[in-house]
Amino acid sequence: MEQQAATEPRDEFPLSYARALSWGSRVLILCTGIGLSVVLSNAARERLLSKQTDFARLLAENLNHQIYRRFTLPTALAFGRIALRQPTQYERLNQVVLSVIHGWQLKSLRVYDLDIVIGYSLDKEEIGADEPDDSVAARVMESGAPEFEIISAVPFSQALFMGKLEVETFVLRATYPLRVEIPPGISTEEGSLPPMGVLEFSQDITGDFASVITFQRLIAGVIMFSSSVLFSLLLLFIRRADKALALRMARNRALEETLHTSERLAAMGRVVASIAHEIRNPLGIIRSSAEFLLKRENTKQDPRTHGILQAVYDEAVRLSRTVNDFLDYARPREPKRNATVLNRVAEQVTAFQAGEFERLGIRVESDMDEELVVRGDKNLLYRALYNLTANAVQAMNGPGLIRIRGRRREKGGAELTLTDSGPGFPEEHLSRLTDPFFTTKDDGIGLGLPIASSIITSHGGELILENAAEGGARARIILYE
Ligand code: ADP
Repeated sequence: MEQQAATEPRDEFPLSYARALSWGSRVLILCTGIGLSVVLSNAARERLLSKQTDFARLLAENLNHQIYRRFTLPTALAFGRIALRQPTQYERLNQVVLSVIHGWQLKSLRVYDLDIVIGYSLDKEEIGADEPDDSVAARVMESGAPEFEIISAVPFSQALFMGKLEVETFVLRATYPLRVEIPPGISTEEGSLPPMGVLEFSQDITGDFASVITFQRLIAGVIMFSSSVLFSLLLLFIRRADKALALRMARNRALEETLHTSERLAAMGRVVASIAHEIRNPLGIIRSSAEFLLKRENTKQDPRTHGILQAVYDEAVRLSRTVNDFLDYARPREPKRNATVLNRVAEQVTAFQAGEFERLGIRVESDMDEELVVRGDKNLLYRALYNLTANAVQAMNGPGLIRIRGRRREKGGAELTLTDSGPGFPEEHLSRLTDPFFTTKDDGIGLGLPIASSIITSHGGELILENAAEGGARARIILYE
């Protein structure tokens, strides 16, 4: 138990650590993805705005220049003063403006006079209207600094989720002070001359914004897709690792349990073995005493006493066989490594049971390579083969056939196969046949196959128990040297 308590936390730590790591990475990837898409698209939007503002500034400067040169100067010289209400002056300004803005798709263009009254507009109906004191035009007139502003019908974040944007959803408004142009050579302090009017024009930039939005959606899509792929990969790895870890932990636990059970069994086995050892001698005395009494004349004449003594003798014989089997299994002997001819061992086993075979009508077919010599303990090998033939006899339970086949292995050693014509091993028992005390017989002990198996493995060999294709049980003894 102490060992288990010491290993468990160590096993579970990496599992929880891996889970936390997986979730952490997922959140990190998602946040980085979203952050990256916002940063990238904001950068694109800023770039677009600064480009548009630069264009608007250029247009405003050009308009200022052209209006001053082609309208203000000649009109002032010809008429003495600027009065846009005069149709001739208005038409002259109109021609100048239209020639400059040709090709620029402006939504509106106005020129405010010093009183912030609209003196010129592309929309003639606006002419004469005045603006409040806190209007942008008034501010620009006062400060003398141009202003550029985006006027949007919907917030940008909302536009991201809208289908098709309507015309004039985003408009850039430029408000620019109209100034007198100082000819080169005449010096004046910058900004000392107040504006002579304000130019204001607006431009629909919805189309450009729509392309930024498409770009933003594309970035978000690509980032979401790549992070989902990363997510899935990570998830897959973590799941696999989880499974492998859980499997390993389950295996470890099963192994620990088996270890504990076998430790317990081994301890129990040692106790039982010493008890069995103590029983063996008194049992021998009981058996020989019963045998001695059975042979006496006056016992033979008393059938009741004879019957009782016979039962004592039979049980003592059975018990001492069980005790011997158990001790053989519990305290296996280290096999000797002498040159042993397997043909002789097999002959001895069949010769010993010849009477039994004849009585039950069992035929034995032996097909052995000549002089199959292995390094081993002939007594133990005899015991293993005997257990297997005894089992075959019991399984056939009457007339039948036992085939013994012996072959020299190419790489050294030999293989001995024993096949009977009985019902075969039940498939569901195949994995338990060599478990100690596993038996399906009423009077079985369940040590015959475990002893045979432990003898063969103590020789460095293998005992394979299977069913023959033609029916019947088959035991294959493989000895490697
Ligand atoms: P036991 O003979 O005391 O039952 P074993 O370890 O020798 O113990 O055998 C275990 C079980 O294996 C038997 O109870 C029987 O069910 C099965 N078995 C062994 N040999 C054969 C065989 N030749 N044919 C069919 N079943 C067999």
